[in-house]
Amino acid sequence: MCEWYPAAESAVVVDRSAARHARRFLDDHWCVEHASLLRPHAELVVSELVTEAVTHGAPPVLLRVECEGADGVTISVSDRDPNGPRFRTVGPDGVPGTNLVAVLSDEWGVRTRPGGKTVWSRLVV
Ligand SMILES: [Zn+2]
Repeated sequence: MCEWYPAAESAVVVDRSAARHARRFLDDHWCVEHASLLRPHAELVVSELVTEAVTHGAPPVLLRVECEGADGVTISVSDRDPNGPRFRTVGPDGVPGTNLVAVLSDEWGVRTRPGGKTVWSRLVV
């Protein structure tokens, strides 16, 4: 629990500006008390999660940011497609590698439910 910044959730515009809008959402809801140091990684994680959901998932796409104080920040992106996610992967010389979310997150995972999924990432200072 964070006493400064309550969890925030927003629908993401499903078009090519989605990642930009999602990063702007962080400006208003990012906890500067606990998580300033995590912001650069968070920007990349949010961009990847939102881009995946907009490109491969099914709308509506919901972005949620929750500061948990010393336990870190959890970023979640939900959409209506229970399959996936299909992240692009990064690797040397075009060889498939690990996805960026896995590289940057302290923990991450996928929760599926009937009619949708949530991909989440936790970042810890
Ligand atoms: Zn906080």
